[in-house]
Amino acid sequence: MGKYLLKFNGRKVGAIGVFGDFKLIVNADNEKEAILKAYDTHEHLTRLTVSPMKEHKDMIDKMQAERKTICEYCGKEKEGLSFMIGASRAPAWVMVEGTGKMSCPDCWADAMAEGRAAINKHIADYNVSIKNV
Ligand SMILES: [Zn+2]
Repeated sequence: MGKYLLKFNGRKVGAIGVFGDFKLIVNADNEKEAILKAYDTHEHLTRLTVSPMKEHKDMIDKMQAERKTICEYCGKEKEGLSFMIGASRAPAWVMVEGTGKMSCPDCWADAMAEGRAAINKHIADYNVSIKNV
C-alpha cells in the first residue's frame, strides 16, 4: 500500500455541470487501484496523471540532499530549504504541526486541516486511554 497523487479535470460525483481541476491523494496498492478510487468520488476524468508519492522520510532526505523545499501534497518545489514550522495563519510553506509534512501555499488549507485532525485524534485517543486506567 502506498500513496498516489492524481491530477485531473473532472467533477465530483453528483455535482452536475461543475467541472474543475482536482488534485487527489489516495492510498492504493497500484496505479490501477488508485484510479478506481478516484472514480469513487469523481467522474468524467480527463487529462489524468497518476504518480506514486515518496514516503515522508524519503522526502525529507531528498529536500536536504537537493537543497530545496518540496510540497508533500502536490510535489511543487522551490529552491532552498525554508519554511514555517508548525503553523501559519495565512497560506505559506509550512511544516505542519500534527503531521510534520511539508505543504506549499496552494495546499496549505488542506494540510492544516489534516494537521488539526491528527492533533484532535491524538488528544481524543489520550483522553480515552487515561479514562480506562
Ligand atoms: Zn502543494
